[in-house]
Amino acid sequence: MSHVVIVGAGQGGFQAAMSLRQEGHEGSITLIGGEPGLPYQRPPLSKAFLKTGEAEKLALRPASFFDQKAITLRPGTWVDAIDRAARQIRIGSETLDYDVLILATGTRNLRPPIPGIERALDLRTLEDARTLRAALDRPRRIAVIGGGFIGLEFAAVAAGLGHEVSVAEAAPRLMARAVSPEISRRFRDLHQALGTGLHLGNGVTEVTERGLLLAGGTELPADLVLLAAGVRPNVELAQDAGLEAANGIVVDATLRTADPRIFGLGDCAAFPEAASGRRVRLESVQAATDHARAIARTIVHGETAPYAAVPWFWSDQADLKLQIAGLADPSDEIVALENGAVLRFSGARLTAVETINDARTHMMARRLLGADVVPTRDSLLEKNYDLTAA
Ligand SMILES: Cc1cc2nc3c(=O)[nH]c(=O)nc-3n(C[C@H](O)[C@H](O)[C@H](O)COP(=O)(O)OP(=O)(O)OC[C@H]3O[C@@H](n4cnc5c(N)ncnc54)[C@H](O)[C@@H]3O)c2cc1C
Repeated sequence: MSHVVIVGAGQGGFQAAMSLRQEGHEGSITLIGGEPGLPYQRPPLSKAFLKTGEAEKLALRPASFFDQKAITLRPGTWVDAIDRAARQIRIGSETLDYDVLILATGTRNLRPPIPGIERALDLRTLEDARTLRAALDRPRRIAVIGGGFIGLEFAAVAAGLGHEVSVAEAAPRLMARAVSPEISRRFRDLHQALGTGLHLGNGVTEVTERGLLLAGGTELPADLVLLAAGVRPNVELAQDAGLEAANGIVVDATLRTADPRIFGLGDCAAFPEAASGRRVRLESVQAATDHARAIARTIVHGETAPYAAVPWFWSDQADLKLQIAGLADPSDEIVALENGAVLRFSGARLTAVETINDARTHMMARRLLGADVVPTRDSLLEKNYDLTAA
């Protein structure tokens, strides 16, 4: 009976343990996580949790689940090294044998070398979210470094709670890495309507006792600063064991590293995306869970089909729910439809569909992008870009 060890007990590590049992793995499973407590969901940390503080709702499963499924959960435990030749991992002075190892180590916050950055708070873990929530107990001036998903979700909640919020973003538009200029514009309008001061194309040069100093010389007064300027994949464990890392642990189309006994998944893994062939690293619940399911099938049934799940993502900001199906390159063409959806194309190929408060079109897009024959630009144009008719 083989022993599967999973390093990282976040969304993907937890799903891998659960999927292994669902697929019929009868050997032992050890799920090791650096954070204390039960595996939990991160998305609510920048949304509902800030308002309600209901930590018990975040747990992915109760403690009894791990007993029932004979999954050995070791929270608050840091894995220090992998010895590939001995097929062991090291936890302090302890060693643990594995037959198969899954690296689900996620990411950590990027801390740019800005003077005074140590004054800024993070939003990555439940502990971070608890600290922030406690700080929102009285009216404050809040400055957010970074106009990406997490910074903006936090800004929307903080503004909704009556705080005075400003966001500084070095790029000229919001969420620039991930969405079209059209969607950026709609979210800019939303945040301005919430009263948030947006400072775009204006990098932060210093975090002072009084707030933020921007490249253009502007001072943003703040008594709480959130750093939300992106993340860095946790690749050191793999790298120190001689595995390749390039913006993520490098894995093949079956999510295996160069060592056939070691897989990588979720936020920490750089994998070849089926539709474009590009090597990508995705920071989403969908990627983490679908990777985990695929790896479990490979371990249990020896499946070798390349991983090809359609990527999708959501973000909730005030009353807008953004949903993205597929994966667009920033240079992909844009077709903005009257119903509010935005289609992205690389040449004739449909690459992504962005929607706001339109779950129906989002689901349709996921179906189309996952079909054996994805509609082309011409075939969609013939139907006046009506996805329901495609
Ligand atoms: C505030 C916030 C909001 C988000 N909102 C959304 C959203 O709306 N939609 C969406 O799709 N995604 C969202 N995400 C992203 C989503 O949560 C991640 O993509 C997902 O959690 C990735 O899962 P993972 O298992 O790869 O990594 P994680 O869930 O980050 O888990 C990795 C775990 O590995 C542990 N670890 C690392 N190294 C070691 C080691 N050496 N030993 C032991 N343990 C180790 C870490 O401590 C961590 O607990 C959000 C993330 C955050 C932080």
